[in-house]
Amino acid sequence: EISICWLRRDLRIADNAALYHALKGNYPVLLLFVFDINILSKLPNKDDARITFIYDTLQQLQSELSQFNSSILIKHGTPEQAWNEILDTYTVKEVYCNHDYEPYASKRDNAIAEYLTSKNIPFKTFKDHVIFEKNEVCKADGKPYTVFTPYFRQWRQKLQPFYSKAYPVEKYIQRLLPIQIEHNPSLQQLGFTRALQTFPTKDFETKLQAYEDHRDYPARDATTHIGLHLRFGTISIRKAAQQALMQGAEKWLSELAWRDFYMMILWHFPHTVQQSFKPAYDNIQWVNNEVDFDHWCKGNTGYPLVDAGMRQLNNTGYMHNRVRMVVASFLTKHLLIDWRWGEAYFAEKLLDYDQASNIGGWQWACGCGNDAAPYFRVFNPELQAKKFDPNNEYINYWVPELKQQKHVKPIVEHAFARERVLKVFKTALAI
Ligand code: FAD
Repeated sequence: EISICWLRRDLRIADNAALYHALKGNYPVLLLFVFDINILSKLPNKDDARITFIYDTLQQLQSELSQFNSSILIKHGTPEQAWNEILDTYTVKEVYCNHDYEPYASKRDNAIAEYLTSKNIPFKTFKDHVIFEKNEVCKADGKPYTVFTPYFRQWRQKLQPFYSKAYPVEKYIQRLLPIQIEHNPSLQQLGFTRALQTFPTKDFETKLQAYEDHRDYPARDATTHIGLHLRFGTISIRKAAQQALMQGAEKWLSELAWRDFYMMILWHFPHTVQQSFKPAYDNIQWVNNEVDFDHWCKGNTGYPLVDAGMRQLNNTGYMHNRVRMVVASFLTKHLLIDWRWGEAYFAEKLLDYDQASNIGGWQWACGCGNDAAPYFRVFNPELQAKKFDPNNEYINYWVPELKQQKHVKPIVEHAFARERVLKVFKTALAI
């Protein structure tokens, strides 16, 4: 008789809420991870770096667990298939996992919860991935906030030390199930090959002091790059918040709150996966020119900052936040290409891709999301470059041909584009 702790985006042992509760329960605990073919089959690249990252992280977990004579069980299939097989093999008394807020994930979890409950197996779930979830920070009438500033005021006020305290998993670690599992699938058996990308390190602590002053300048590389680690739970959000509090890094702390905010929004408004948060924006007559889109993807728009950003993304799986805003604004406003195209491209390329933050970021840049700013804010990519890359360091690195004056001509003229988008957006919003 065992309980199972099902890991998803919490690929760590330390400070893991579900694991802590499982270990404190009545049965020895077996860890489980499912490579979900519903998700894997949608990935276009067989060398997707995120799969390599998950795979390597599971290998590390495996060796950590072996110190306690335990193992992680790794399944490959749909979650339904995986659970069928598990219940055929083990006598499972309880299942533990952490909340996952994406629409697909909540559907999956509801289905599995129903299935397990029908077999009299309780499905116990916990908050782990965020500081405050779903309904913990909301308006006086209980409705969700839809604008960040008032949300953050309450979020920050509520953040007492209790909320960033680590779960002392190590105290109960001897309650792991003693077991050796030998037939976990290899990367090849999952249908993937090893990516060549290197992954960001976890030493974010050293970046926090200088963050506020330098974060907006891409050449200074002054941000932490921990998005990937927060996405897959290889760094605990509580540890991140605790460091921010200890170092008085308020600006950085507020970025962690943006992450909570977007997850809360996606939970309450799951339709924003496909539709604009502000419905009138779905009347926009996009131009959706495929040649322009291709230039944007490849970093050949003729706007150096846009091109530098897209090349950074294509080469490293990362793009600086300021530049993400500029390229997203450029795609939707200068080229009048649907934000969903850009969102999908980022989803394919970003190591730190997160559905909630990506949709939030794209809708913010387009003006159709959770943003108080009016649609007529159109970033000028040249002014943005002057302001945030004044010595062209970032641009010269990614667009070296600019120095030899061999860079392509702009594919659209700024003044023309600005006038066009204002007209098109105005018409859409007047309907
Ligand atoms: P830091 O600046 O060091 O911040 C630390 C952490 O705070 C980040 O890792 C992230 O988890 C969180 N964070 C910071 N800024 C934001 C923000 N604006 N919104 C939500 N969370 C934030 N972030 C993602 O994690 N995944 C995405 O898919 C994603 N897509 C984006 C798309 C667009 C169009 C835009 C404008 C922004 C997007 N962001 C996304 C937000 C932001 O750009 C990244 O989180 C950030 O650049 C990651 O770099 P970092 O880890 O060095 O961040």
